[in-house]
Amino acid sequence: MEAFPHLRRVGDGWAYDAVTFAPWVSVRDAGKGEQDEKDDDDGRGTTAKTTNAFVSKEAWIDVFARATGQFVNRARNDLASGREDAETRAEAFERAFDAALEKCARAETSEEEIEALCRSETNGGGAFGAPWTGINCLELCRVRDGMLRRLGFEDCFASVKREENATALKALRGVLDRLDAVESDSERLLEVVRGCFAGNIFDLGAAASAELYDNGGVDFAATVLKLKGRPWCVDDFDAMQSRFASKTHAKAIVFVDNAGADVCLGMIPFIRELIRRGTEVVVAANSVPSINDITALELEEQIIPFLKSDELGDATLKDAIESGRLRVVASGSDMPVIDLRYLSKEIVEEARDADLVVLEGMGRGIETNLYARFSIDSVKLAMVKHKEVATLLGGELYDCVCKFDEGDC
Ligand code: MG
Repeated sequence: MEAFPHLRRVGDGWAYDAVTFAPWVSVRDAGKGEQDEKDDDDGRGTTAKTTNAFVSKEAWIDVFARATGQFVNRARNDLASGREDAETRAEAFERAFDAALEKCARAETSEEEIEALCRSETNGGGAFGAPWTGINCLELCRVRDGMLRRLGFEDCFASVKREENATALKALRGVLDRLDAVESDSERLLEVVRGCFAGNIFDLGAAASAELYDNGGVDFAATVLKLKGRPWCVDDFDAMQSRFASKTHAKAIVFVDNAGADVCLGMIPFIRELIRRGTEVVVAANSVPSINDITALELEEQIIPFLKSDELGDATLKDAIESGRLRVVASGSDMPVIDLRYLSKEIVEEARDADLVVLEGMGRGIETNLYARFSIDSVKLAMVKHKEVATLLGGELYDCVCKFDEGDC
C-alpha cells in the first residue's frame, strides 16, 4: 500500500492524520478543543476549526449502535453469501458488534484492551496495516466490516447496490438534460455540485438516510429542489468557482462513495462536467466491497457500459470512455472511509500527474479527510447525515459541505 502523492508534507513526514475531522479526543488532548481558533496549520495538517471539531467516543459508539439494525437486516437477507444459515450468522454479527461497542463504552476498559479487541476483529485486508487511531468512525468501520466478513458476509449489499444502479441509470438522461439546459458555466457548476449533495443523501449505510428511503424512495429532481440553500455549513463554493473559471485542471482523481443515485446521478454528471471542461478523470472506487459503496468492479460492469451506450446517447461520456480520458481505477480501500496513506499502487501511479483531487461523501470527504491538506487543488463534497457531525460543523442534519482548497502548484 502506498500514500497519495500530494499529501502536504512537514519535514520528512506527511502533515496528515487519517481522522483529520472529529477524532476521539483523549484526555491528553482535551485542552486543545478549548483553544481559540488558530490561523495557521497546527502541524498535523489540520487548521483552525479542527481544534474544536471533536466527537466523543460515546457519540461515535452511539452512531454505530443506531446503524446496526440496517446491517443485520441486510445480512439476514443475504442469499448471495452462499450459505443457508444467514439468519443465524446475522444474529451472531449483531451480538458480536453490540458486545464490542459495549466493551468499548465501558469506563474500565483500557485503551490497550479496546485496541486489541478491535484489531482482533479485522481480517488482515488491504488497509489494516494502518496504525490504530482510537475509537472513531474509521476504526469502528474496520471492526464492523471485519465482523461481517468473518461471518461470511463479504458483500451483503450486493443485490441492493445492483438494483439501485439500474434504477438510477434510468434517470440519468433526464438529469443530464436538465443540467445541459443551464447555459452559464458557473451556474452549471453550482448545479452539478448540488446534484452531488442530492445524490449523497441516498445512502443505505447511514441510519438517517435509510429512513428516507423507506419513507419515499428515490426522487432525485425533488431532492435537489429540497436541498438546503447556501450558505452551507462549509461553503467554499465561490472560491472553487473562481479557481475553476481561471484554471482548467489537466487531470482529476475522484474518490466516489455510494452505489445508486449517489454515483450515477450525482457524481457522473459532476465528472462529465470536468471532462467537458477539458479535464481527464480517473474515478477511484473501493477495491473490496464495504456497505453500499460502489466498487471499481461494479463501476466497470454495471455503470460504464451504460455511460457509453447508444441508449444513453451521451457523446461526452462515450468519447471520454473510449479514448481513455475517463477511466476507473481501484483505490485499494476496503472501507467506507479512506486513509490516504494506504492506497493501491495503481491509483498512486495515476495520481502522480493529477492537479485536482475530489473526495466525495461523508466518510471520505468529512469524517476522515475534511481537513486533509494537499499540494494540489482539492474539493470535498458531502451531505451531512450524522447529527453529531452537523453540530460540530455548526450546521444541521442534511446540511452540505463544499470544501475547496487551492494547491500550491
Ligand atoms: Mg458510503
